[in-house]
Amino acid sequence: MRYKKIARLKANSAAQVITTRVLLGGMFHNLSIVLRLSNAAPSASCCYAIDFCVLSIGRTRSTKETMRLPGPVTGLAVVVLFSVIGSAQSQSSVPDFSAARDEALKILEGLVRIDTSNPPGNETRTAQYIKAVLDAESIPAEILELQPGRGNIIARIHGNGSKKPLLLMGHLDVVGVERDKWTLDPFAGIVKEGYIYGRGASDDKGMVSACLEVFLQLHRLKVPLDRDVIFLAEDGEEGTSKFGIDFMVEQHWDKIASEFALNEGGSIHNENGRINYVGVSTTEKVPRGFRLVAHGSSGHGSVPRLDNAIVHLAAAVAKVGKWQTPMRLNETTRAFFSRLAQISSPEEAALYRQVEHPQVQEKLRALKAPYYSMLRTSIVPTIIKGGFRSNVIPAEAEATLDVRALPDEDIPALAATMRRLINDSEIEVIPPSTPGRPATPASSLDTEMFRALEAAQKKLFPGAITLPLMVTGATDSAQLRAKGVQAYGLGSVSTDQDRSRVHGNDERLSIEGLGKFVQFLYTAATDVAASRRAR
Ligand SMILES: [Zn+2]
Repeated sequence: MRYKKIARLKANSAAQVITTRVLLGGMFHNLSIVLRLSNAAPSASCCYAIDFCVLSIGRTRSTKETMRLPGPVTGLAVVVLFSVIGSAQSQSSVPDFSAARDEALKILEGLVRIDTSNPPGNETRTAQYIKAVLDAESIPAEILELQPGRGNIIARIHGNGSKKPLLLMGHLDVVGVERDKWTLDPFAGIVKEGYIYGRGASDDKGMVSACLEVFLQLHRLKVPLDRDVIFLAEDGEEGTSKFGIDFMVEQHWDKIASEFALNEGGSIHNENGRINYVGVSTTEKVPRGFRLVAHGSSGHGSVPRLDNAIVHLAAAVAKVGKWQTPMRLNETTRAFFSRLAQISSPEEAALYRQVEHPQVQEKLRALKAPYYSMLRTSIVPTIIKGGFRSNVIPAEAEATLDVRALPDEDIPALAATMRRLINDSEIEVIPPSTPGRPATPASSLDTEMFRALEAAQKKLFPGAITLPLMVTGATDSAQLRAKGVQAYGLGSVSTDQDRSRVHGNDERLSIEGLGKFVQFLYTAATDVAASRRAR
C-alpha cells in the first residue's frame, strides 16, 4: 500500500480526528486518523516523524514518513494512528489476536514516546493520546485532573447491569531514568529483536496498552456484557498517588466503583522459553517508613565521647538490619509456596514445603531474598545521615528504615519491639507520621474473577500453574481493596532478566509476550463480564 499526502495539519489543538472512507483490498473501510499534538519535542524544526499504522483485516502494515508542517511551529510532536475498522472483524466474536498485538504495540510505542517521568509526571499528554484513540472509535472518555497536567483518563462500555463493573487499569507515570546508563533512547519506543524498549514499556504503559486493547476489542466486537467494563489510566502511582488513585477514589468513586479490578502487580513468567507460572497478586505489603534518630553531645573530633550519636546510631542500625523478624503465612503466601513446590526442582520443593522451619528461613534469607521478604515484615536501612566535618562530632544522626509491613502488622507494637531490641535511650524510634497506603485484607482466591484468571491460564498456558502472589512492593490496588474491590495484579510475559530492568536501565517488554498477555486479559475479562449467552 502506498500513501500520498494524508493531511495538512494545523497546530492549534491538542488532538484532531479526521475520518474518511478508503478502499482497501476491494472493501471500503472507515479510516480514522488521530492527530495528537504536544509539546514533547523541544526542537524548533518543522519536520516531524509520523508513524502510520493501518490495521487491515488480520494484519498490520506500518511505515514511516516525514511531513513538513507549515508555519512557525515549535515543539510539536505528532502521532498518527490509522485505525481501520474492518467490517469482517466486527462480524466475528473472537478478536484477531495477532492484529490486536500489533495495535497494542503501536499504542505502547506512542505512550513510551511521551516522557511522563514522575516528578513531574505531566500525564495529561498521555491521557490526551489515549483519548484520541478512543475518540476515533466514538467511545466517550473523560480526562480528570486534580492539578493541571496530572490527567487521569476514564471510559466505560456499558453492560446490562446485572453484575457490578470490572475495572481494567494501569498507570501513566514512570520513574525517571539515568540516561547515561541506557544503551538506547529511553523515550523513543525502539523496537528491536522482539522487544520494545523504553521507560514504562513494562511498568506500566504495557499494562495500560493491553487494557486499552482489550477495551477496544470488547467495543468493536460489541460483546454483550453482564457488567460494565471500565478503562482507567491513572497518574501518580510512582510516589504521588494523591493526583491519581487517591483523587479517583475520594472524588470520583462513582466512576470507578467496581466488583473486580485488574491492575499491575503480577507476571506471566517465562523460564527458558516456557511459561511455568502466571503470577496473580492478591495482596501486597504496606510501606511504613521508620526513622531512627540518635542524640548525643557535639564536640571536637579529637576527643572520643561515650554518647557519640554516630556510634549509637550505627549500633542501632546494625541490630534492626540483622533482626530476623517473625515470619507468618497468610492465605496467599500459603497457596504460593505450596503451588511453587509443584513446579520446582526436588531440592527447592523441599524448602517450599517447610518454609516455617528456622533453617529454611536462613536459606531463603541467603538465597531467595524476595521469598524471605514475602514471609514477614521486612526492615531495610536505606539512608544514613550524620556529621558534616571530619573533626566535628555531630549532636544528631539519623537513619531511614524502609519497613514493608505484612498487611496485618500492628505498627505500634512493631515500634515497641524495635525499641526493646535497640535498648538504647539515645535512640528515638519514630514510626511513620502519615498513614500511607491502606493495609487491607487480601483479595480472595475464591471469586469469579480469580477463577476466570485461572481458567484463562489453563486455556492459554496449559503447562503452567496460577500462583497467587503477595507483592513486596506497593501498587494502587491497595486503595481499591480498601474500598472493597477484589483487585488482582497481573503482568505481561517476562523473564527474570526482563523483570530486573523494571525501574532500572534498558527496560523492555516482549512483543510476542504482549500479544499473549492481551489474549489472556481478554479471555479472563470476557469470562467474568460477557453475558453467558454470548460465550
Ligand atoms: Zn507500576
